[in-house]
Formats: sequence, structure tokens, C-alpha cells
Amino acid sequence: MLQVYNTLTRKKEEFKPIEKNHVRMYVCGPTVYDYPHIGNARSFAVFDTIRRYLEYKGYRVTYITNFTDIDDKMINRANEEGISVADLAARFIAEYYIIASELNLKPATVNPRATEHIDDIIDMVSKIIENGHGYVVDGDVYFDVPSWSNYGVLSKIPLDELSAGLRVNVGEKKKDPRDFALWKAEKPGEPSWDSPWGKGRPGWHAECSVMGKYYLGIPFDIHGGGQDLIFPHHENEIAQSAAAYGEKTPVKYWLHNGFLTINTEKMSKSEGNFFTAREVLDNYDHQAVRFYLVSGQYRQPLDYNDKALKQAIQSLERIKNAADTIRGKISILEKKGGRRTKADDKLSEAIKKVREGFEREMDDDFNTPGAIAEIFTFVRDINSLTPDIGNAAVLREALSTLSELMSILGINLEKAEDEAGGKSVEVLKGVVGLLLEVRENARKSKDYAAADMIRDRLKELSISVADTKDGPTWKIE
Ligand SMILES: [Zn+2]
Repeated sequence: MLQVYNTLTRKKEEFKPIEKNHVRMYVCGPTVYDYPHIGNARSFAVFDTIRRYLEYKGYRVTYITNFTDIDDKMINRANEEGISVADLAARFIAEYYIIASELNLKPATVNPRATEHIDDIIDMVSKIIENGHGYVVDGDVYFDVPSWSNYGVLSKIPLDELSAGLRVNVGEKKKDPRDFALWKAEKPGEPSWDSPWGKGRPGWHAECSVMGKYYLGIPFDIHGGGQDLIFPHHENEIAQSAAAYGEKTPVKYWLHNGFLTINTEKMSKSEGNFFTAREVLDNYDHQAVRFYLVSGQYRQPLDYNDKALKQAIQSLERIKNAADTIRGKISILEKKGGRRTKADDKLSEAIKKVREGFEREMDDDFNTPGAIAEIFTFVRDINSLTPDIGNAAVLREALSTLSELMSILGINLEKAEDEAGGKSVEVLKGVVGLLLEVRENARKSKDYAAADMIRDRLKELSISVADTKDGPTWKIE
């Protein structure tokens, strides 16, 4: 039984989608004004793994993640660069798709953009005003927070405590410091759209309420995002959706991922303690970055440091080596044949155990570190049992199980480190295989000098050859 921690109730709850066998899920996506930072990348990877696990459990998942392509940050950045907001958005949406592919994120069902839903946003804001929870001042529209007694349901901040420390800033026309903008009147040089309140643009929070309802219907099952979005973004989203559409609980489960720290310090752009996902992906193997991003339990903080990345590289290497060990033995058995042995039974048992263990951990609020520990136990079993396996079928099952479980974490074991390197690895495997065949033939015809020469020359190239009872094996030192 899958249990998920719901920020709304602050409890782990049994996961039961509203529609049988169908999960409707919305994850707040990036504001496309710059490269996403590595903390954003964590959120992308975490919710992709959650989605993949739900699919593994047999659910059909409708997965929506948006692009915020109009807000203050977009406008400021576009003005700095002297380009249009639309051009800025196009550039960083393209960047997002590159990063998404490098992190092996499954494509979303839809990636809607705020500017594609202006009419729907206007419709929602109109409903909020009609229902008595929004008001217009000089072309701005605000949500009347004190009129909404349920405000604070997600963040657990009582309405009366919320005003402490809040002020109405100069230039703002709201009645209460707790109120937030649903629609902002046009300022010179800003993109704007016609509305019943004059030209303007949506406030940031409006889009997610609108797009969630548009693509998923409300109530829907899972709303995800970083912890920093609980307040005010998601609190405001609940208030808007409920006030406009009359659905008191527009989302059943609210899931939030923890922060990413850098060398144990809070990530901060102004203090230079900051990495973009692009920088990290340029410096490390893409699969290792993905593996690192999902290596911690998603609600806990995750620290980014060089050691953690190197550890991810090594861990992944061990798992890939185990897959290679299996492949090597399969090719030997395919040539020579074999009989079922005791090791076969033990490996069958290990296959059953890893699947059970992986599911048990993932069913506990997607506990990826526990699930990865189960995979490592399996890797040890593979390494110790494979030399004595007599039958290729059990090895194929072990390999497909390992591949399937790793694919939930977003790692494709069939794929080499990168596309360009993939082909050269295949060529290398072929060439070494050919040389070893030549060496075997030399040995058979007792030409030991030629056989040793091939082995020694390979060694000079850091390729060590070992002769086992099943034939020669090789590895790169
Ligand atoms: Zn959002």
C-alpha cells in the first residue's frame, strides 16, 4: 500500500486516486527567465521519479508541468537584455527541454504556458470578484484574504498572525497587507492583455489554479513543487481555486520536495553559492547527476558538493558493472550452454527480494535511499552469484529487473554515458572481443608468443584480460 506525506494534513496517508487507476498530477514548473538552478533540477527529477513509480504501480498518469512565461522576473530580464518577453521565454523554454532530456525526464502530458491561458485566468478572476473575494483598484485586482476564513489551510499560518511584519508597500493599492494580486494593471513597456479591468497581466499565482483545472479538472490528485512554494504560492492557489470554483479542497495530496543546499549552506545567488543545472550537467555525467538528485528522500534537504557527485558516479558505476557482468556471462552461456545450478536458485530468490524491498521502500513516501540500498544488496548478490550461474534465463531476468527498477529512478542502464560516447563504447567492445578471439585461436594452435603479445599490448592500453573457466574476460583498469 502506497503511503504519501500530505503537506495539507501533515501526515502520511494511504494514496488513493480520485479516479480509479488514473492519477492526475500537476507540478509547478520553472519561470523561464534564466537557466534553472540545481535546486529546480531536484524538483524536476524528484517528481519525475514519483510519476514513474506511479506508472510502475499500474496507474495511468496525466502529468502537467507549466512554464511561467510572464511575471516580474521575466519582464525585468527581458528589459535588461533589450529583447521581448516572448523571445526570452522561447530561449529558456528551449533550454528547459535540453536539460529535461539530459536529466531523462519523461515528457509531460502537456507543458502549458501562462500566456496561453490569459482568457481562462480572466474568467477565474471574474468569478472570484463575483463571489465576493476579490476587488478592483485602478485596474489592479486583489484577492481579499481576510474574506477567506480558510486561508492558511496549507501553510498552517493563522490569518491573524499573518499580518505581523507585513506592510502595504509604496505603490500598492491593496486594502490589507495580506491581500495578493490576481491581476496587475499595465505599466509602460510591459506586455499586456485586454481585460474587464483594463489592460494588464495576471498575478503569478493565478496561472497554476487555472491550468490545473483546465488540464486535470478539480479536485485532482497530486500537486507538487518545492517547499518554498507552500507559502504563499500554493496557499494562494487553494484560496483562488476554492473561491472561484467552489471546490473547498481542489487538490487531494500536496507533495513538496526539500531544499538543496550547497556545501551545507543555503543556496544564494547573491553570495555566489549557486549553481545552474547547466553548469552541473556540463561538469558531470548526466546520469550521475540524475542519480544524485533522487538519491535522498525527497522531503529531506539534499546537499550538493563534489564528494556527493563523485559518490553518485561511483555508485552508478557499480550498478552498471553488475549489469555488464550479467551480460558477459549471458554471452558465454549462449555459446556454451549450461544447466541450472544452486546459484540460479539463489539469484531467483534475490530477484524476488529486490523487487519486494524496492516496492516496500518506495511505498513508504517514495523512500529512494531505502530503495537504492535494496538495489545495492542485489548488486552484491549478482556479483557473488553470477560466476556460478548455469542458465541464461535467470540472468536475463536479473538484468531486466535491475534495468526496470533503475528506470524508475530515471537511469537507463541500456544507454551508455552519453550519446556520442555510446557508439565508441560499442566499437571498443567489438574490437577487444575480436582481439581476444584471435588470441584464443593463437593459444589453440600453441602460438603462445602471439597470445601473450596481444594480452601485453592490451595491458599497455589499460585493458586487463583474465582467463576464466568460461573463457577470457576483460576490463578497463
Ligand atoms: Zn505554481
